[in-house]
Amino acid sequence: DAHAIGRSIDEETSRVLPASAEHFRRSSELIPGGASRGRFWWPAPIYVERARGVSLHDIDGRTYIDCLVGFGSMILGHAHPAVTDAVAAQVALGTVFGAPCVQEEHLARLVVSNVPGAERAVFVGSGTEATMTALRIARAATGRDVVAKFEGGWHGAQDFLLHSFTETDGELTAPRAVPSSAGLSRSSSRDVVVLPYNHDAALVRIRDEAHRLACVVVEPVQGAAGGLPTEREFLERLRAVCDETGVLLVFDEVISGFRLGPAGAGGLYGVTADLVTLGKIIGGGLSIGAVAGRADLMGRVASREGRPVAASGTFAANPLSMAAGVAQLSVLLDDPDTYPRLAVLGQRMRDGLRQVLAAHGIRGWVTGVGSLWGLHFSAESPRTVRDLATASPSVARVLAAYLLLEGVVMSAPVHLGFLSTAHTEKDVDLVISAHSSALKRMKE
Ligand code: PLP
Repeated sequence: DAHAIGRSIDEETSRVLPASAEHFRRSSELIPGGASRGRFWWPAPIYVERARGVSLHDIDGRTYIDCLVGFGSMILGHAHPAVTDAVAAQVALGTVFGAPCVQEEHLARLVVSNVPGAERAVFVGSGTEATMTALRIARAATGRDVVAKFEGGWHGAQDFLLHSFTETDGELTAPRAVPSSAGLSRSSSRDVVVLPYNHDAALVRIRDEAHRLACVVVEPVQGAAGGLPTEREFLERLRAVCDETGVLLVFDEVISGFRLGPAGAGGLYGVTADLVTLGKIIGGGLSIGAVAGRADLMGRVASREGRPVAASGTFAANPLSMAAGVAQLSVLLDDPDTYPRLAVLGQRMRDGLRQVLAAHGIRGWVTGVGSLWGLHFSAESPRTVRDLATASPSVARVLAAYLLLEGVVMSAPVHLGFLSTAHTEKDVDLVISAHSSALKRMKE
């Protein structure tokens, strides 16, 4: 009985986390849903007091192994001294100027020298702003209005790309755009073409629609859908069809950039996009977004002929985000063992979770690549978000709630985990055994 389980988890959580529960109750009178990030937590969020390495400490005095690490931003773990020192030094020097700072050049150099196809880069305030900016550049460059995205792709809360994220509609080979939020304009729904992920019908659709398509935006590993990788041959065919039709290819690497390697997913798959959006890791834990890509396209933001593409904002390229980003990327890139080690830890997590599922006789699937993993309870091994529709979101929610009680922070209803260089083999093993205990409770 789902209601009884829900009530018992609610009671147990309020008993174990009285201070967080009380804040959540009081905040609910001020903030819709109790907290701006409240909807990620069920039955209620923990209130974090401080974090260091992979540990989160909440206001009830409990400690957790963090598998979200700032939705993937904190790839060195929390409060890495190189990052906190850089931020503290910059705080003392001032935090927002109406003028550039030299760290912007340093960060741009790190992006341009590592990301395939990145000849130029501009910085904005968030990953969402990055994808919005990329669409404008693509429209300005092609003179076409419509943008294409894949089912299951998450590109931030911006109207055009905020379609068919979890909900899908229409034939598998000819999806219809489903608004993923209330309040989207009808014209935004008309100006997006939604494509089937990992399916060649997408290529046919791009060819058919090319005359009105400015760009195709793809996450080379779908993150928010739960770590579903794009198949390499599919990505290669996507590149080829874009070349053939003049539709620009945009990789949204807000999660995968500097996570799957110094060259991100583009480097891992050996496919180069025309534009790449970045965020999260490149900000060292402060808010950031970036668009990088071909010099001729990027030049549109400073065009002297005709109207330039807007790419700005009060906090764009602010010195704190730039300093934190330079510090984090420098530590990451200085150690040649960073990415191999993250990949080994990721594999240990995926293998361990598969063993746990098998040991409990539970039908579930572990996805992911490198330091990312997803866990799904769909009928079949998922290749696309459509395959996930057979999984009950409440199962993932109950799992995340039990994991929290076991001392592990994990997302729900989409189970997407991130490792950092601060995670050890022991942390991974503890997370795996917490899954075993949580799944055991769920079976009871
Ligand atoms: N693109 C992808 C692939 C993301 O995962 C996200 C955020 O999770 C975004 C864009 C939006 O970035 P932000 O949350 O910084 O606006």
